[in-house]
Amino acid sequence: MTRTVTVVGAGPAGLAAARILGREGIDFTLFDSKTFPRYKGCGGGLTPRSIRVLGEIFPEIEPEGFETRELSFRSIDEGVARDMVTYMSKRPLFFTVDRKEFDHSLLKSVIEREGDFVVSRVREIEKTDCGFLVKGENLEIESKFVIVAGGVFGAKLVNLEPPEYGIIYHGYSSPTGNASITFIQDGYLWKFPGESFDSIGGGVYPDAPNILAYEEMATLVKKTFDEDVELMGTPMPLFNTEKVLELNRAFEGLFFAGDSAGLVDNWTGEGIDFALDSGRQAALSILEDGIKGKTAGQRYLERLYPIVRHLQVADAFRRRFHANLQGNVLLLKSRRSARLFVNYISRYAGNLSLMVLKSFFTGGIRHRST
Ligand SMILES: Cc1cc2nc3c(=O)[nH]c(=O)nc-3n(C[C@H](O)[C@H](O)[C@H](O)COP(=O)(O)OP(=O)(O)OC[C@H]3O[C@@H](n4cnc5c(N)ncnc54)[C@H](O)[C@@H]3O)c2cc1C
Repeated sequence: MTRTVTVVGAGPAGLAAARILGREGIDFTLFDSKTFPRYKGCGGGLTPRSIRVLGEIFPEIEPEGFETRELSFRSIDEGVARDMVTYMSKRPLFFTVDRKEFDHSLLKSVIEREGDFVVSRVREIEKTDCGFLVKGENLEIESKFVIVAGGVFGAKLVNLEPPEYGIIYHGYSSPTGNASITFIQDGYLWKFPGESFDSIGGGVYPDAPNILAYEEMATLVKKTFDEDVELMGTPMPLFNTEKVLELNRAFEGLFFAGDSAGLVDNWTGEGIDFALDSGRQAALSILEDGIKGKTAGQRYLERLYPIVRHLQVADAFRRRFHANLQGNVLLLKSRRSARLFVNYISRYAGNLSLMVLKSFFTGGIRHRST
């Protein structure tokens, strides 16, 4: 079978790509190894920026999420988690979605628009004279372009080294309505409220000197939230600009989107936004192949630029913040930090100084120090 595009993986990155390809009348096949709805280890936190990107790609979807307008930042002092400051906003600070339902609703929207979806694990992607041969279980597709959106290990399908990654733990607890982020050395714990359960979890950064094992994380979660929660470990990549470039320059016509390219915020762990947006940008680059003498691959790297800039700023934030965690957590207590935070989760932070400047004009946020 031949197609113009094959998309591997029906997470936010692959689904965004498929939705844009369908909208533009480009024939494609979308593969996923799982039948939907399927579990995906994820906090399900959607920032205002993600909601905007989602609306641009899937205007028909109204995400069924829990709106959070109050968020407490906490730190651990002598082994006990304490609220440091609570940010309160007139507009939602973020939404919590259940990834099982969320991804399924995006997939249904793609299929309703005559997208070709197959449940089959892709085992290998082979370079051919006219493009690529995507080898699934019981199905092989030859296509000119391939969008690899198969999560952290996507690069292995073409025998490339995936991004560095760590394990983040996720579970569900009884609903409390309280949202919090607790900073720990080289990592964080979160509690995001939902309708019927809260999303709870945590982890340390993939490049942290001390990686926490399951038992240590389970103990920390119990101590922090006073709840026994069964946790599941899921890999999360570490963003690295060189890796994004290396993967996306490896083969003309082969695009790495979302976690497959390591497009996550190294500070907060946010990745849904960058998965949606990079999937969209890969599809749009295919449409522009050959225009003004540029290949689709060259266009994709240009189109990724705002995402990459934001993720570089995120990484710089993380390094500064965790270099002196106890001191910097105190900085969150200022109104200026509250505004900066709202600005950060609402738009791409291409230029740090400009973002700091803009945050002076960010309204509708109050804070309460404890
Ligand atoms: C514990 C945890 C909590 C998180 N919390 C948040 C959060 O609150 N907010 C946020 O924005 N981000 C969060 N993230 C990050 C976010 O989950 C990811 O960045 C995002 O899911 C990446 O989307 P994706 O489409 O690139 O990959 P995925 O969502 O991983 O989707 C990949 C898809 O590819 C399929 N697949 C894999 N291999 C193959 C194959 N060989 N053949 C066919 N199909 C295949 C999988 O079945 C899957 O459906 C969290 C991550 C973790 C681990």
